[in-house]
Amino acid sequence: MSRKYIVGGNWKCNPATMKEANSLLKEWKKSPPLVDPSKVDVVICPPALWMSSLGESIEGLGMKTCAQNVGKNDAGAFTGEWTAANLQDLGITWTLVGHSERRTKYGEKDEDCAEKVAKCQEAGLGVILCIGETLDEREGGKTDEVNKRQLAAVLPKVKDWSKIVIAYEPVWAIGTGKVATPDQAEETQAAIRNYIKGAVSADVADKLQIQYGGSVTPDNCAELITKPNIDGFLVGGASLKPTFMDIVSTVG
Ligand code: PGA
Repeated sequence: MSRKYIVGGNWKCNPATMKEANSLLKEWKKSPPLVDPSKVDVVICPPALWMSSLGESIEGLGMKTCAQNVGKNDAGAFTGEWTAANLQDLGITWTLVGHSERRTKYGEKDEDCAEKVAKCQEAGLGVILCIGETLDEREGGKTDEVNKRQLAAVLPKVKDWSKIVIAYEPVWAIGTGKVATPDQAEETQAAIRNYIKGAVSADVADKLQIQYGGSVTPDNCAELITKPNIDGFLVGGASLKPTFMDIVSTVG
């Protein structure tokens, strides 16, 4: 089965100003080729405050805006949060859930991710669900076990699998410059697909897009993308550079 590729640019809490963000988008516009939407979907996750104001420029590049996070609550007394329905209302059709920085720095648990996914499914929002093991877990031979645990929490909430993408992001590779080898990423992502095959169905597993994330750059993406179970990337640091478009064109 040939799956469409999907590349995400996760800006995290960067750049420092909206002026810089706009000049990055201008640089991307200059660098041909623009995104070919028949080959690759591209989603950009700017800081939440800028999602609306940058949305038009992002769309103009053939890309979609994606939130970095979403609340697990409905509308109500939840200071500092926003809902999946709020995102839909703004025309934002994607969000990340469970990024490792949310899990480690903000104490998000598997159960929180499951509740968030449930709300996104209700609102019809696409989710890039981030999973992955720490260095200790990899060295302890627990990689597949951790990924399965993080997935198992969420599976019962998913009714519409066409709205789910998995981002496999080994925590030890995020922001460290230590990218997983193509064989490491392929082996783990094949195991993730195989788990979904057993836990859900062969058809869902076959169609599911699984991204690799963690220190992806224009230099290492070409080899990674040759692997059959790598359907694109979730890119952090390298998505803040003009050369992010080289990653997009390598994939698409
Ligand atoms: P990185 O971040 O590409 O800077 O390693 C990836 C991510 O956090 O999604």
